[in-house]
Amino acid sequence: MSDEHDPPRMEKIVSLCKRRGFIFQSSEIYGGLNGAWDYGPLGVELKRNVKNYWWQVLVHERDDVVGMDGSILTHPAVLKASGHVEGFSDPMIDCRTCKAHLRADQLVEKKGVKQCPHCGGKDLTEVRQFNLMFETHLGATADESSIAYLRPETAQSIFVQFKNVLEVSRKKLPFGIAQIGKAFRNEINPRNFTFRSREFEQMELEYFCRAEQGMELLEYWKEERLKFYENIGIPRDKLHVMTVPDDERAFYSKGTYDIEYSFPFGRQELEGVAYRTDYDLSQHQKASAKSLEYFDEETKQRFVPHVVEPSAGVDRTVLALICEAYSEDEAPDEKGKMETRVVLRFHPRMAPVKCGIFPLLKNNPQLVAKAKGIVDLLRPHMFVFYDESGAIGRRYRRQDEIGTPFAVTVDFETLGEKDASLRDTVTLRDRDSMKQERAAIQDLPAILRERIE
Ligand code: ATP
Repeated sequence: MSDEHDPPRMEKIVSLCKRRGFIFQSSEIYGGLNGAWDYGPLGVELKRNVKNYWWQVLVHERDDVVGMDGSILTHPAVLKASGHVEGFSDPMIDCRTCKAHLRADQLVEKKGVKQCPHCGGKDLTEVRQFNLMFETHLGATADESSIAYLRPETAQSIFVQFKNVLEVSRKKLPFGIAQIGKAFRNEINPRNFTFRSREFEQMELEYFCRAEQGMELLEYWKEERLKFYENIGIPRDKLHVMTVPDDERAFYSKGTYDIEYSFPFGRQELEGVAYRTDYDLSQHQKASAKSLEYFDEETKQRFVPHVVEPSAGVDRTVLALICEAYSEDEAPDEKGKMETRVVLRFHPRMAPVKCGIFPLLKNNPQLVAKAKGIVDLLRPHMFVFYDESGAIGRRYRRQDEIGTPFAVTVDFETLGEKDASLRDTVTLRDRDSMKQERAAIQDLPAILRERIE
């Protein structure tokens, strides 16, 4: 299933992420916490851009979706009813030779014999089920009665609050409830950088409908979600839609698609789009003995709605954006000699910093004052970065490497010293083409906004 693997490319990406402050290992100075990551100054901007755009497209631009933000600590009854306490587990095997804990599907098979992928050992334990949920205790007593879980997905709080949200929003079917937030899974083997973490963020929509609309809405949401990825800069030919076969689908689902992306470590899931029937609401209705039915005023019918769920990972989307954006090309250095240029070709909409602003010389008060004036002019519209240190070429390279799509340089022309007609114009440079044009300062907000949105 996997596309071409490119470990050297992945290594460069991981190293750039650390060097430029996108992603750091959690608790690094203490040796790191496996499966947890911290986003640095640029990573947090990129992540916010992903979440904000998702929210804009799925909530603000629609009449039929409202948002919510549920708690992470979850009542055990919720996760019993949803089936997570019983069944949210991965099959695990231990290697008795090197003591590795392995997910059963990670074993390698040589000449029909299963082996440990780390040491080649064949002395393996039986398969046992390992529940992926993190358990904790509420309050001072740590016994059965105080158990709570960190949610393994955001979806369940949406189902549990279905009735409340329905009442306050007065929506008619079909309508959705969206949520972005943290989820936790005690993955047996966190790996591939942030791709499989123990703490991660999800963007989930539960789109409620009538039973007869389920299959059609599954197709609709799959297409909407593909468009979303294209609109943030992941081309269609890097996305793959996998129809999850009957025997791999959750028993209650009538159809599931996995949207996959070709990462440098292979083709892997970004998002699942599933038609979950009325399973979740019915389970919670049964377990809580509270009605989660919808009343149709026209037909006077009462029924439990069905649901289609597009469920995406924020961290996986961020990683896909970085992998997609990473590129190297050739550009002349200060002396005109060609050198390798590292560029993150983010879609301007996603780029952490939208525009770099540079005075040509830092010791010229007039140039500096003009450049700072441009910072003030652009700041209400976008996140910009002021930089006055080093040669201008180096400042461009630093912005290229973090994916800043535009750069503005204030030079002597801006001051109108040589040609009065150029007064209050600047050099506007494009990251990808490296082309430079002259633009009036007052037009910058409009020009840049048009190119970013
Ligand atoms: P996988 O098969 O890769 O473990 P899954 O099918 O269990 O994923 P879902 O339960 O469908 O994943 O979760 C929805 C989305 O949440 C996934 O598509 C992914 O983007 C994200 N996600 C799930 N588990 C993780 C994880 N351990 N780390 C980062 N993101 C995750």
